[in-house]
Amino acid sequence: MLREELYDQVKKLIDKCNRCGFCRSVCPSLAELGWESTSPRGRVFLVGEVLAGRIPLTGDVVSRIDQCLLCRNCMAVCPVGGKIDQVIIAFRQLAAQEMGVATSKKLMLNMLSDHRGLCDVMAPVAAVLEHIPFKETPGGGAIFRLNKKMRLLPMFGGKPLMSQFQHIKVDKPIKKVAFYVGCYINYMGVNVGRAVLNILARNGVEVVIPQTQTCCGVPFFASGMVEKAVTLVRQNIDALEEANVDAVIYACGSCGTGLKEWARHPEIGSEYAEKAKKLEEKTFEIGEFLIDQLEVKELPSLPKPTRVTYHDSCHLAVGAGVIEQPRTLLKMMGNAEYIEMPEANTCCGMGGLFSVNHYDLSRKINSRKIDKIMSVNPQVVTSGCPGCNLHIMDGLNKAGSDIVTSHYIELINNAYDCAQE
Ligand code: SF4
Ligand code: SF4
Repeated sequence: MLREELYDQVKKLIDKCNRCGFCRSVCPSLAELGWESTSPRGRVFLVGEVLAGRIPLTGDVVSRIDQCLLCRNCMAVCPVGGKIDQVIIAFRQLAAQEMGVATSKKLMLNMLSDHRGLCDVMAPVAAVLEHIPFKETPGGGAIFRLNKKMRLLPMFGGKPLMSQFQHIKVDKPIKKVAFYVGCYINYMGVNVGRAVLNILARNGVEVVIPQTQTCCGVPFFASGMVEKAVTLVRQNIDALEEANVDAVIYACGSCGTGLKEWARHPEIGSEYAEKAKKLEEKTFEIGEFLIDQLEVKELPSLPKPTRVTYHDSCHLAVGAGVIEQPRTLLKMMGNAEYIEMPEANTCCGMGGLFSVNHYDLSRKINSRKIDKIMSVNPQVVTSGCPGCNLHIMDGLNKAGSDIVTSHYIELINNAYDCAQE
C-alpha cells in the first residue's frame, strides 16, 4: 500500500529524468564508487523499478540508495529540474517501513526529538567528563587520547545555547528576529550560536530564541522516518510563527535548507505548507541577512594577518543559494587574507548521518576536499555549516595538518571581540 502511494507521489519526478547523464559529473559518491547504480540517474531508475514492483527491495538496492549523501549537487545541474532528493526520500521511507531503521540510528534520532530535556541535562555533564578520554582541538573537535587517528568527534559545548539565551534585547532595535538554533549549535557548536547572537546585537537587532523549536526534521526525512519528521516540522512552524518576528535566522547550512523547504513536503498538510511558505520568505542564513538585509558594509579587523579560505556547504550553496555573502564578509575584515580554494563547492563527504553509516566512503570523498584545502595553505578554513567543519577537521587531523577549522561567523565574531578590547 505504502509502495503504491509513494510511487504515485514520485512517479512524475522519476519519469522526468531523460537519462542525459549531466548529473554524473558532480556526484561525490559516484566519483568514488563508479557504478552506474550509484549515479543520480541510476538511483532514480532503481527507485522507480522498486516502487513499481519490477525489482525486489533487497539489501543491495538499499545500500546503493543509502550511499547517496543527499548533497543535491545533481539537482543543481539537472536540466529538467529533477527533484532527486524527493525520490531518494520516498525510497528510504519504503525501506524504513519494510526493512526497519537501525536501532542505533533510531535511538540517536529519538534523543533529539523526544528526549531533549534529558539532552539538556546531560550535555553540561558530558562537556566536563569528555575531557578525560578526549583532547580538544583548536576548532572544537574531540580527539581520542589513546588513538589520535580515530574519528574526530564533536565536543559538547557545556550548557545548551537555548538554556543560556532566550531573548537578546538591544536599544532601539532596527529589526526583531528569531534565531533557529538547530541541534548541533544548541549542544555542540554553542560558540557559533553565541557569535550569531553577538553579531546581531552589535548590529542593532533584537533576537528571540523560541524555546519550543526542535530538530529541523532533516535527519528524519533522510532516514525515511517521515511521520516523525512531520511532527517536528509542525512544531517548529508553530514556534517560529508565534515568535512574530521580522525574520528567522539560521547558521547551520543543513538545518536552514531543511527549514526553507518544509513547504515542499506534502505530508505536513496544506495548512502548515501555507505557513511554511510565509516563513520561508523571511528566513535567512546569518551572512545572507547581514549582507542582503542589513547591508553591512564594514567589519572590524582580525587581530593579526590571517590566511582564510571558505568551503561551500552543499546544502547552503545548492539548497539555499548562499554562496557570495560569507565570502564578502570574510573579505571585508581587515587582516583577513582571503584565498579561494580550487573546487570550493565540492562535497566534503559529511552528509549528516551518511558519514556515520558510511564512514570509509565519506573519508574518501573528504580526502579530495582536504587536498584542495591544503593546496592553498590557509591558516583557517571556514564554512557556514558546523557539520562540514567537523568532517573537514577530522580530515585535516588525519592528514597531520595544523590548519584550524571554524564557522566563518565565529571568525567575524573574533574580529568584533578584538575591536572591543
Ligand atoms: S544527492 Fe549527491 S550523492 Fe545523492 S545522487 Fe545526487 S549528487 Fe549523488
Ligand atoms: S541530470 Fe537529471 S535528467 Fe539528466 S540523467 Fe541526471 S537526473 Fe536524469
